[in-house]
Amino acid sequence: MNASVAQGTEGAFGRPWRRHSGNKQFPRIGIVLIAALIFAADTELPLGSAVAGLYAIVLILAAGTYLRRGVIVTGLCCIGLTTVSYLASQGLSPPRDPFLRWAVSCAAIGVITLLTLRNQAATQTQREQAELLNLTHDAIFVRDTQDIVTSWTRGAEALYGWSAEEALGRPVQTLLAPERPGGFQPVQAQVLREGHWEGEVLHRTRGGQPVIVSSRWALQTGPHGAPSAILETNTDITLQQQAVAELRRSEARYRSIFQSAGVAIWDEDYSDVQPLLEELRQQGVTDFNRYFAENPDFVRQAVTLVRVLDVNETAVQMFQAESKHELLGPLEPVFLPGTSGSFANLLAALAEGKPGCKSETVVSTRRGEKLSILMSVTFPPAGESRVLVTIMDITERRRAEHDLQRTRENLAHATRVATLGELTASIAHEVSQPIAAIVANGAAALRWLRREAPDLGEATQAMERTIRDGKRAGDVVARIRAFVSKSVPRRDIVAPRDLVDEAVLLLQREFQNHDITLTIDMNPDLPLIEADRLQIEHVIVNLLINGVQSLADMESGRRDLTLKADLAESGEVILFSVRDHGIGFAEKDTKRLFDAFFTTKANGMGMGLAVCRSTVEAHGGRIWASRPAVGGALIQFTLPACKSH
Ligand code: ADP
Repeated sequence: MNASVAQGTEGAFGRPWRRHSGNKQFPRIGIVLIAALIFAADTELPLGSAVAGLYAIVLILAAGTYLRRGVIVTGLCCIGLTTVSYLASQGLSPPRDPFLRWAVSCAAIGVITLLTLRNQAATQTQREQAELLNLTHDAIFVRDTQDIVTSWTRGAEALYGWSAEEALGRPVQTLLAPERPGGFQPVQAQVLREGHWEGEVLHRTRGGQPVIVSSRWALQTGPHGAPSAILETNTDITLQQQAVAELRRSEARYRSIFQSAGVAIWDEDYSDVQPLLEELRQQGVTDFNRYFAENPDFVRQAVTLVRVLDVNETAVQMFQAESKHELLGPLEPVFLPGTSGSFANLLAALAEGKPGCKSETVVSTRRGEKLSILMSVTFPPAGESRVLVTIMDITERRRAEHDLQRTRENLAHATRVATLGELTASIAHEVSQPIAAIVANGAAALRWLRREAPDLGEATQAMERTIRDGKRAGDVVARIRAFVSKSVPRRDIVAPRDLVDEAVLLLQREFQNHDITLTIDMNPDLPLIEADRLQIEHVIVNLLINGVQSLADMESGRRDLTLKADLAESGEVILFSVRDHGIGFAEKDTKRLFDAFFTTKANGMGMGLAVCRSTVEAHGGRIWASRPAVGGALIQFTLPACKSH
């Protein structure tokens, strides 16, 4: 260490380490002058070599100014000067006493030089140690028993913002306003008792900012064991504490989500399974799903290696366990055989490095109840082996879906009946027409027979018409009955035109009532289709009724309805289109029209189109709606053409 660095420090505890340099070096010229004065006095005054003892002053001053070599040179110079004074005052053949005094003086100067050198070395070491403290980032300071700061390192300056000059001589209380839960009484007591203390303290910086420090206190005692000072070493852990607090908060948040989630969460450890998967990869297995299907033993072995680390409350309830401990530990005892397929999928996804997987399966609870579950698995990032499995109980949902399906079927039936209600007038019209014709033809036949010369030919024709009309009436009735009965779906080979005609027949009255013109535009060469004729007629009737209702809601405008049918998709299917110029529907509803219960009508049930869709789809076709640019609605559906006919 060079002199200039050493000047910045002063030494041991209890004295400031940092002070301004420049006033500690005694001027070299001063040292020379003092030496000269002592030399003059030693030479001139009749005191023998007694004055030479004052050279000790020169050596002490030199120790503060020069390095080791300078002190040695100064010591030698002092011995030289003593010798010159002695020779000058005694001549070259001295009497015995003054010589002895000279010899003792020289020895004394030599001893003082040595002591000075040792002291200088010790001071140097202390300075170096003190300077080392300055190099640490910790904020270190010393305070005396009155709480007054006596030393203040650079680390303390940096952390608290007070310079050494400002801090020295002031109480720690006013500088740092220290706080800790429980106060400092017990801390002081422990330091006095055990000599040290360690803990967390809140300090304030010069600007009032709070800093949390990890503080270590060490007691310094005086020569008689009385406490003299306390060395405080403080490490700023504010950020660390904030990070720890944030971590705790996040951990608490995670725990609360984990515990209170409405889904069952299983935290599982796959660390023993992963090496097995790695082995498979190394053996060149790429299609893991196939491998697991062909090697069920591997899957069984993997199950034995998975450990359940934690489960949440929902899992305990869902699986009807007594407590969570019943589900923790190896997965095997809680593993449900019904899930091995899902487990194999999970393993395959894990082996293929996917981020997660989902599957649906049926499992039994600990008490043997069957549960339909949706399992969603999140795999850990590479290098970790904890897998989170969330399980949602969808038993109720499945049941509701099943119920809904049944309700839909019932509703479809109800809709048919409801449609029938609307059609009553048409039916009455349809049936009354043939009956009126029968009556008229019967009367005509009678007239021809009662003539004087009965005209058997005319009478026969009239009777034939009667029979035809009677059959027609019977057909209408049979059709209506079939329409409302829940008959088993049939597959008839029918001509599209017949379907359309029969459906239209049912609606004649509706068209008349609303003054609607129906245009039927059908390709005459359409192939036959294989269908349940009543169901398809029902679809056509539904679409036409919707068209009628839409047109009926219009104040004015074209009251026409068009029904087209043509071949499409290279003759594979027949495309039916029902087009009206009615009120139309909103763009956003295009897809929803076919949803069950979707209706915009005050008395609508919203089942018509839903039933149409299931009917068409059950026949291998498709149905959709669109909004023509000029307004109204266009509903289209396809049915596969029957190839063999
Ligand atoms: P509902 O007739 O009982 O309302 P549907 O399933 O037959 O049930 O129709 C559902 C909805 O689709 C109707 O409420 C109506 O908003 C709309 N819709 C169906 N057909 C048409 C059409 N031709 N023009 C305008 N909107 C229609």
